[in-house]
Amino acid sequence: MHEFKYRNNQLYCENVLVGKLAKTFGTPLYVYSYHTLIDHYLKLKSAFSEINPLICYSVKANSNLSILKALIAKGAGLDIVSGGELFRAQKAACPPQRIVYASVGKTDKEISAAIARGILFFNVESLAELKNINRIAKGLNKITRVAIRINPDVEAKTHKYISTGKITNKFGIDLASAYKILLLRSKFENLNICGLHIHIGSQITQSAPFVEAIKKVADFIQRLKNKGLVLEYLNIGGGLGIIYDREAPQTAEIYANEIIPLLKKTGLKIILEPGRFILGNAGILVVKVLYIKHTLKKKFIIVDGGMNDLIRPALYNAYHQIVPLSLRVGEPVSAREKVDVVGPICESGDFLAKGRLMAKVKEGDYLAVMSAGAYGFSMSSNYNSRLRAAEVMVAKDKALVIRKRETCEDLIRNEII
Ligand SMILES: *Cc1c(COP(=O)(O)O)cnc(C)c1O
Repeated sequence: MHEFKYRNNQLYCENVLVGKLAKTFGTPLYVYSYHTLIDHYLKLKSAFSEINPLICYSVKANSNLSILKALIAKGAGLDIVSGGELFRAQKAACPPQRIVYASVGKTDKEISAAIARGILFFNVESLAELKNINRIAKGLNKITRVAIRINPDVEAKTHKYISTGKITNKFGIDLASAYKILLLRSKFENLNICGLHIHIGSQITQSAPFVEAIKKVADFIQRLKNKGLVLEYLNIGGGLGIIYDREAPQTAEIYANEIIPLLKKTGLKIILEPGRFILGNAGILVVKVLYIKHTLKKKFIIVDGGMNDLIRPALYNAYHQIVPLSLRVGEPVSAREKVDVVGPICESGDFLAKGRLMAKVKEGDYLAVMSAGAYGFSMSSNYNSRLRAAEVMVAKDKALVIRKRETCEDLIRNEII
């Protein structure tokens, strides 16, 4: 569910007319609904209330400071994957004991900064990294908490670029190797290896892969217990799928009901790392139709936002619903036509929709690309020297700019002639 709805054939975000935002702030424009994102956070929180997990919102889904602050204020922690995200977490005043840090390629500088900050723990992805964190912690005269990221070797049944829990993926450590490490954990004098982590992928719509992965890890935890190895945390990652098109993803309740019994049996403190589930349907990208172009084979709707603003269609062949901000009433469905909605970027991969059946649009019309709140702005770039879009947050009747549109000066800020 989300707060982007038509009233009198005009698209609203909460109580604000989206068309008005487009005119006031220009396009392309990201618009977020505060209440949608908070609702999704609370939905997950309440589904898991029985075990009261720490919910660490995955910063990379959408890293705007206002969004981080809004979630932190509701009790969320943060899942970070870089020194830049650690900096954002600090700027958003996230208590360090609510920060967990994953990534296969943490640098010495990033590790030192996170240790100095006193984060809850690192999710460690290799033996080499474990040794390195131990070495750095020793240099800083600190004992640092880490969780071992397990690669449970399960098929997440999602796009291959966002599947992370197969043994052929670069993420995590296989169970046998993790077992060996844990048996020797006292050898890492400056580490407290106190947890396990899994994150098997993103946009997972069925609970079966989650259940399979958690069962594997729960059995593993039991095996460790039998050896007298006690842990404190189990971080089950993110990955919950949302509705873009006709998906029927498991709800937070179904997901929770299926896995809570398994989680309870471990006796560990549970951590969740949702990203897309919280932000995905809480944001849209508003674009303006620049030109309509008929070629010998196709009709193109050329809009002012492209793959530099929203790369998901180009990168994952992802589907985003595209709707007009103003519905034209009384138009028969038969008047719909097949079009490609494309951006201005000089790449044939620059499309927002291909072969899409849409109601007729005119030059100057505004369109909303739905479900663009997660992995939208955070994956945007300056490719073709295009200025990154502005971001606006709506709460009830209020709309606030939470990131200004970039200027040409921003483009060249760090360049030296
Ligand atoms: C990206 C990521 C997440 C969030 O994934 P979603 O599919 O957005 O929920 C969680 N944990 C880790 C380690 C990640 O890399």
